[in-house]
Amino acid sequence: MRAMMLSRAGAGVLEPVERDAPSPRDGEVLVRVSACGVCRTDLHVVDGELPNPSLPLIPGHEIIGRVERLGTGVTTLTVGDRVGIPWLGYTCGKCMQCLTGRENLCPFARFTGYQIDGGYAEHVVADARYVFRLPDSYSDLEAAPLMCAGLIGYRAYKMVGESKRVGIYGFGAAAHILTQVAVHQAREVFAFTSRGDNEAQDFARSLGAVWAGASTEAPPTELDAAIIFAPVGPLVPEALSRVGPAGIVVCAGIYMTDIPSFPYRLLWQERVLRSVANLTRQDAIEFLQLAPEVPVKTHVERYDLSDANHALDTLRRGRIRGAAVLTP
Ligand SMILES: [Zn+2]
Ligand SMILES: [Zn+2]
Repeated sequence: MRAMMLSRAGAGVLEPVERDAPSPRDGEVLVRVSACGVCRTDLHVVDGELPNPSLPLIPGHEIIGRVERLGTGVTTLTVGDRVGIPWLGYTCGKCMQCLTGRENLCPFARFTGYQIDGGYAEHVVADARYVFRLPDSYSDLEAAPLMCAGLIGYRAYKMVGESKRVGIYGFGAAAHILTQVAVHQAREVFAFTSRGDNEAQDFARSLGAVWAGASTEAPPTELDAAIIFAPVGPLVPEALSRVGPAGIVVCAGIYMTDIPSFPYRLLWQERVLRSVANLTRQDAIEFLQLAPEVPVKTHVERYDLSDANHALDTLRRGRIRGAAVLTP
């Protein structure tokens, strides 16, 4: 099979390789990949900003495909099923985090496209317990961004509770999905982008954001919550300064540059600052049910698998509207 591989930590580029398709072991399925989303986390892995990827590594954790072969003991899926494979690839099922509904924090968790070979390839194997059937209303291409931008974005969105006025910093793949969910739930979305990124601001308004501006600008009203998708530490005090008392600020990315020190008054009055890590299978079940109800429409830019480096570089430069998706 063809695949794009990271062979050296922080290499910044992937190399095309030709290798045998992997064989599913007990409890695993072999999936023929039809689409794989390009996530900012892939960029952090390729650029060496996340520690200890399992090298050599095939990235990609927004995988859509069809089950081609079953390992022994797989009873929940059949050959031909259309499935999605997300970032969460394995958890121990026995630790305190796993036993209390927080498998996203399992210390033994393994992640697709990081410790497990992912979907920048024609085939992938996955533990059948972490594979999901998909709503019929999405094409393979449209479904890919749901698997991480959608799922982990949704987990971040849940952390803002009932907040009515929600700021979103960084208007990429996750933001474009969550804006639709928030608008559907009669909330107000305030979109913050890089200064001068009029295209992203227009895009946000077209999806129903009531306001869009630069991340250093004051929104027209105090916010109840903010979600930060951009990996930019200085946005933390910025967002805290825009939320009211008891406001919640969620850092939704796996990587962020250092957060500068800030005065305690920005946190005072029971403002909450928290991060969101990974996803649980329950998040996936909930979101894959919710998305077609909204219905969330994903905007995708298609790239051939062999153009993965080009897709990553376009994302690196903030030039993707919606989500980039690779097809073999
Ligand atoms: Zn565990
Ligand atoms: Zn991701």
